[in-house]
Amino acid sequence: MSEVATTPIQSKDQAIKASELDPKFKYELVKIHGSEKILKCFQCGTCTSDCPVARFSDSYRPRTLIHMALTGLKDRVLNSDTLWLCAACYTCTDRCPQDIEVANVIRAFRNLAAEKGCFPQVFKDQAASLLESGYAFKIPELRIKKRESQGLPPLPKGNPEKVCKTLKGVKFIEKIQKPVGEKSSGQ
Ligand code: SF4
Ligand code: SF4
Repeated sequence: MSEVATTPIQSKDQAIKASELDPKFKYELVKIHGSEKILKCFQCGTCTSDCPVARFSDSYRPRTLIHMALTGLKDRVLNSDTLWLCAACYTCTDRCPQDIEVANVIRAFRNLAAEKGCFPQVFKDQAASLLESGYAFKIPELRIKKRESQGLPPLPKGNPEKVCKTLKGVKFIEKIQKPVGEKSSGQ
């Protein structure tokens, strides 16, 4: 596996300004399912040292993300590209001595980031493909022809109408179409 290159969440030239701190952020997180125990983090670093993604990335560090969240650096956490590198393997959750569900804390960060419309283009493309075809990825014509040539049955037809109905129910469509940083209505 090669090193994963991403935008660092914090660089030396990004001094923290008092104005960007949101001291209420950690209390917001305590109310979210999965991140209730975040205040128990004592920064031992076990989550990072055992994380298989951190091993191959020079910027993804779950401990650092949690530290930033507890410090109140809400925008930096939610705008961080590295947030999306977590593979949800739950190793960190199994090993945290404080019983913090680290993987679920990362998921909570992602959900909050997505609420702001702040998530990588690749997921927006997947969502667009789902809405268009019912599949997360467009199946290349070449692959369809190859299946035919090998006598394989056709792939099941996607049902974008049903997908669209479901995604509308959870306001997903508005979220993916919303410009970055704009808040959902009712928030
Ligand atoms: S392993 Fe648990 S206590 Fe240690 S830094 Fe990670 S979240 Fe905090
Ligand atoms: S769940 Fe995410 S943060 Fe935790 S060990 Fe796996 S990849 Fe790392």
